[in-house]
Amino acid sequence: MPELPEVESARRLIAGQALHRRIVDVDDSDGYVGRPHPPGELRGVLTGRSLVAAHRRGKTIWLETSAADGSAAAGGPELGIHLGMSGLIAVTGPDGSVAEGGDRHRYDVRAGLGKWSRFSLTFADGGRLVLLDPRRLGRVRLNPDIGALGPDAGQVTPAQFRTLITKGAVAVKARLLDQSKIAGVGNLLADEILWQARVSPRARTGSLSPAQVSRLYRALKSVLESASAKGGAHTGDIIAARHPGGTCPRDGVPLVHGTVGGRSTWWCPREQKLPPGQQDLQAPASYAARAA
Ligand SMILES: [Zn+2]
Repeated sequence: MPELPEVESARRLIAGQALHRRIVDVDDSDGYVGRPHPPGELRGVLTGRSLVAAHRRGKTIWLETSAADGSAAAGGPELGIHLGMSGLIAVTGPDGSVAEGGDRHRYDVRAGLGKWSRFSLTFADGGRLVLLDPRRLGRVRLNPDIGALGPDAGQVTPAQFRTLITKGAVAVKARLLDQSKIAGVGNLLADEILWQARVSPRARTGSLSPAQVSRLYRALKSVLESASAKGGAHTGDIIAARHPGGTCPRDGVPLVHGTVGGRSTWWCPREQKLPPGQQDLQAPASYAARAA
């Protein structure tokens, strides 16, 4: 699933290869990916324009478009792209070259262009920008509501983070996944951040100590940096151990598994203990993994 590093790779691809190419056709026939726009609406609005800037906050990309005459300045609507659970952006050149950014995948992108294309822009030079999305949970829409998102996980300041991560009484993992609070962290990054910070995913936000908050902030920054450098959220240290029988890479203790924040979660029961007195406030975790 694309998280901040994967989505940033898609944004960078668009910024580097898809700007200032005049749009001569749009395939928006997939009315589900394009909802609430009916098929044909995006085509009507975007044809003749060009993309002039590519932005991202969290997992949402939005592209500025030119006036209808295709000029270099902005002036058109913004085109929002969300990669969903399996989205990938491919940009093809006039010479047939294909470059990609987004979800990690195991299919051939060139073959996937026909099979998994959910939305595409065709440029005057013959190249295209295509959203490939096997699971079809991506989304393309005009003028997305960026204001509904919290600050980007890569940009959030220590003071903002402290406020956002400690408010209320939900499991800290659920808070990390809440895009309206901090935008960009998905399931793998959240498990890695909590493990690096030695904080239980089930710890309640309001009970976090200042030391835990500091560790979480530092882990957020270092995990994002490392994932971006290594090529995605799947490169984290604990990720390969997220399976029955997997052990903590630091101390070799078998990881435990449970559902936290509605998502499959793995953690080290020795180093990521709940603070004293909190054990009874949370639903018990499944210890199935320990028996494996
Ligand atoms: Zn451990």
